[in-house]
Formats: sequence, structure tokens, C-alpha cells
Amino acid sequence: METCTFCKAESKLVWKEKEYRVYCCRLCGSASLKPVPANIHSVYNELYFRRWYLSTIHSRRRYLKQLFSSLRRCLPAGRKLLDVGCGVGIFLEIARDEGWEAIGVEISPFATNWCRQLGFTVIHAPLTAANLPSASFDLVTLWDVLAHVPEAPAYLETVRRLLKPGGAVLIKTPSHPAGLFRLARVFSFTGKSRSLLHIPAQIHHFNPSSLMKILLAANFHRIKILKVREHPAAKISAKSFPLSSFSFLTKRWTTSRFWWPSLVAIGFVSDDGKNLGK
Ligand SMILES: [Zn+2]
Repeated sequence: METCTFCKAESKLVWKEKEYRVYCCRLCGSASLKPVPANIHSVYNELYFRRWYLSTIHSRRRYLKQLFSSLRRCLPAGRKLLDVGCGVGIFLEIARDEGWEAIGVEISPFATNWCRQLGFTVIHAPLTAANLPSASFDLVTLWDVLAHVPEAPAYLETVRRLLKPGGAVLIKTPSHPAGLFRLARVFSFTGKSRSLLHIPAQIHHFNPSSLMKILLAANFHRIKILKVREHPAAKISAKSFPLSSFSFLTKRWTTSRFWWPSLVAIGFVSDDGKNLGK
């Protein structure tokens, strides 16, 4: 029996292709890839950051700046911020410009050096090994990071430990509802349906309800889940669509309409540092 990475309840198979399987938890609804590819961290090399981030840095900065300022009223007071998986520092710069004292944690040596050259303090380690002092941040951000981390539950536990009383976590992650898995199953005969699910890079898949449940289970409260537009570079393009050979049919449809929203979750730790429950 497969069990849920987050709540350990029984999980059922919802999609398979080649050696990859995704199991969805019957209790919390989060879904996880099995097996997790070996050396998943090695994906985040210089080529990855140049191709997906540095080539679109200006539009990504604009997008993230706008998104972050639209969330301002939902965020805690205070100035100390940790950006987990800070990549090439796009958000660190935005946070600094908005007056936050921001530092980063990053597993990629290339991205860590890039940020350090920009003058930022970045710890080169997984969050769980970063040895940061407890209760030292007002806000911890994970922009499209949690879904890619095999040890996501331990990350949430560490985030909670690092937050000051009254502090908050901000998580942005793709929204992968049950319908997307149904669609991917229809196209699994093409051998390319994993592009719809960002597999194997994306290990965990959330919908609004499952994201709420895992944050409650991790002892966050006053949780808000918002649906937001995705940056255009992250849309599912006709090229990555499973039927790309029929691009005359799919190109217009996929590039103009076929995208899923992303989710933003904000959850607080209680003011006295204790768990207040829901
Ligand atoms: Zn579960």
C-alpha cells in the first residue's frame, strides 16, 4: 500500500507513465510522485537557471513584484524575511527594495554564487540543514519550491520553527486538481503526458483543499488560499503538449487558453508561538 508523504494515510494511483507513478492521498488529497528520481537536485544547474529564469528575468521580476505587492495586506508586520530556494535572487531584490531584510537558502551552487555577487547573504544548503536560529523571521517565502522538495513535510516543520510568534509563511505552487490528472491519463498513451504535470521535476501536487490541509497539519492557522495567474513563461505551451505533432490543432488553443492557475497560501504561527489549532 502506498502512503501519503504528508499525512501517512492510504493513497491511490491516479496517473502512470513509463517508470513514473503519482499517488493521491484519500484523506488530505495531496499527490506525490513515486519513485522520486535520484539526483533530483542536479537539475538545478546553470543551464536550468539561464534557460528558465535569466532569459526572462525582467518579466519575472515585474510579475513577482506585482504579485507580492497585491499580497501586502495579508502579510505580517516585521522586516526579517527568508526566501527558501531563492534561485538567482529575483525575489530577494524585490523584498530588499520593499524594505525587508532578506536572506536566502539555495541548493544550487550556481544560483548561490549569483546571489552572493549581487550582495545577498545566501546559505548554500537544503533548508533542513541550514542551521538557522529558531524564531528569527517574520516571513518565510517559498516561490514554486515546496512541490519540488522530496522532504516537503520536514521543510514545513522547519519553516514553522524559524518563524517568530505572529510570523507567516507564503507558499506559491502550481494548482493541480483531479481534472488535470484525468486529462494526463487520457494522453498517457502518447508517452508525453508527464509534461502536463511537470514530471519528474515536480514531486508534489496540490489543490486548494490539500494545501489547506497540509498547512493545518503543520500547525499553521489563519490560512488563506488564493488563486493567482501564472507567469506567462510557465504556461503549458503547444510544444510541450502531449499532442504536439498535431500543433495545427493545439497550438492556438494551448497557448491562449490552456493554463491552470497557481495557488498562493499564507499561514500564520500564533502570536504566543503556540499552536492555536484551526
Ligand atoms: Zn495525505
